[in-house]
Amino acid sequence: MTKTIFNRIFNFMTFTDIPIWQKLLLFAGGGIAWFIIIALIGLGAITYVNDSSKALTEQVVPHIQASQKLIIQIRGANVSVHNIAIHDEVQIVNDNSQRARDLLSHVAATLDSLLKGGKIRDYSDLTGELIAEFQVVSINNVISMKNVEEVQTKIPYLFNLLDEIITIKLKGLQRGELSLAEKDLFMKKLREYDSLTVQSVTILSKLTSSISALQKQYTEKIDIVLSRSMVMFIVIGILAVSLLILFSYLLKTSMTKPIKAITEQIKVLSEGEVDLTKQITIGSNDEIAELSSNFNMLMQTIYDMNTFKKVIEEDDSLEDVYSRLAKVFYENLGLDDFSILEAAERKNIMELIHTPYSREEICCNKEILIDSNLCRAKKTGHTVSSIIYPEICKQYLLAPEKFHICIPVIVGGSIGGVIQFQFDKFSNRENEKPTPILNASCMAKQILKAEQYIKESSAVIETKRLTGELRESSVRDQMTGLYNRRFLEEYVETLIAGIMRKGGQIGLLMCDLDFFKEVNDKYGHDAGDAVLKETTKVISKNARSADLVIRFGGEEFLVIVNDAKPGEAEEVAERIRKKIAATKIKTSGQVIQKTISIGYCEFPRDTQNFWEAIKYADIALYKAKEAGRNKVLKFGKEMWTTEAY
Ligand code: GH3
Ligand code: MG
Ligand code: MG
Repeated sequence: MTKTIFNRIFNFMTFTDIPIWQKLLLFAGGGIAWFIIIALIGLGAITYVNDSSKALTEQVVPHIQASQKLIIQIRGANVSVHNIAIHDEVQIVNDNSQRARDLLSHVAATLDSLLKGGKIRDYSDLTGELIAEFQVVSINNVISMKNVEEVQTKIPYLFNLLDEIITIKLKGLQRGELSLAEKDLFMKKLREYDSLTVQSVTILSKLTSSISALQKQYTEKIDIVLSRSMVMFIVIGILAVSLLILFSYLLKTSMTKPIKAITEQIKVLSEGEVDLTKQITIGSNDEIAELSSNFNMLMQTIYDMNTFKKVIEEDDSLEDVYSRLAKVFYENLGLDDFSILEAAERKNIMELIHTPYSREEICCNKEILIDSNLCRAKKTGHTVSSIIYPEICKQYLLAPEKFHICIPVIVGGSIGGVIQFQFDKFSNRENEKPTPILNASCMAKQILKAEQYIKESSAVIETKRLTGELRESSVRDQMTGLYNRRFLEEYVETLIAGIMRKGGQIGLLMCDLDFFKEVNDKYGHDAGDAVLKETTKVISKNARSADLVIRFGGEEFLVIVNDAKPGEAEEVAERIRKKIAATKIKTSGQVIQKTISIGYCEFPRDTQNFWEAIKYADIALYKAKEAGRNKVLKFGKEMWTTEAY
């Protein structure tokens, strides 16, 4: 259970059960996904570093620069204020006054720019000339903002104090000297100015250090981001490469393993072997699996076909081959409705060898059996299929509800027979929609396989038919077409076994034409032959269909009356005798009429020994001749007078 779940998960993860194109697509997708992840990390890191350095260049660096300038300017203003205090020349006082005012104005402008964002101008300490100008964004840090605002509140006081200091100083210069109270006030204002300057510088120093701390914070963060990105790059890179290697390996193995196995099997096959132990294991559910399964099926078919051929080659008779073929159709191919027809060698007739269990007769016009050229497959030597062309064959009688496919059996270049397959147009299998096309294509596939079996067996059928014919010619008499004595010698064992098994009796009728020699003498040998042929016909016609007529000697015939009830042998013998006597044989202008003598006995009633029974019948025949000919005599023990027979 756990194994199956694990297998399922593994198969899902390794794309085992999906088509190859989807495997490759997912594989490529996986590769791209990893690249996208790595690229996103890189992009994130770069964006962060970029934003941070932008913040550094926009906010931190100019703000530090500005706050340092502010300190210098406030200090510069303070120096000018002290110059006002120590110098007594009007010009110097005015110059420093102007310079201090300018510096305080610059400070006010710079503070404003820091709060709202804007241009910051840098002026020369000595000449007051504009030496640099740069843009700042407004300070977004709350503490820094408060610092700036605090300094800003001090500027008006500084301006006021400056004005008061200048006024007192100029007053003193005009009058030449200041009163003590005025001097005290001047010094007080100067100290207040110094104190405010110190406070402002202190706040600005704090501002500088807090902005510097921010700078440090930014650079530290950049360092962290860069080092973390590096680690992620390495980890994800290793993970991606390992997974890509793993999937490439699995993909490669899933494709090459079965293909290698197929190649191996083909190699074995080319050496004429079929090794079913090396069936390809199917581990996936894709095109390769389909190929492997089809290949396994092909191997199985070749194996079955080879085995089938070997088996039928060793079969004794043609009947065995046909029944073996029928078994394969039933059991291996699931075909259950077919008839096997064997075409006679030199005559236009066909014999029905096999009919399906469901019916005993052929589904065609029965005349095809006596005129085989009516059968389209037999006449054309081509497969006749009503799937391809409905009602193709006029002789087929079940056309409306069935499909039929008739395959000719080519034996030694001519048509040795026809195998007719039939199946319902509508599949009656459960859970299947009744579509004629589906059923037809499914059955047609099986019939295609059946055709292979037919082809495989045709050579064997040819050999068997040939040996059968040779055998026939050696056990049959050429002139009359009757079985000869040799046949009897071969057949006797089967015959006796049958009688013993059934516990019945047979009649042995030994028939001999009376004064036959005369015919030869009077009318010639040909007339004699004609009489023999006619006699054969009369005997065969008047024996029963189950009886066997054998040409035992020149003008001697043995009739084996099968399953002879008491009196039946005599009945048959009398009928033959009478008919022969009544038959007028016309030959080369002559009309010949002959009689026949018949001696008979019953086997095994008269003797348990078959050849002794033949002898008994012969004795009875001799007695019939003695008794005046044209007679039927039954063997009796009294006839057995001397051992000389
Ligand atoms: P019986 O009434 O005593 O039997 O007199 P029969 O003349 O019939 O007997 P016999 O055995 O003297 O003669 C048989 C003759 O049959 C001898 C032989 O030449 C002739 N014979 C045997 N086989 C053939 C054959 O195939 N064709 C012809 N035309 N004659 C044959
Ligand atoms: Mg004779
Ligand atoms: Mg005779």
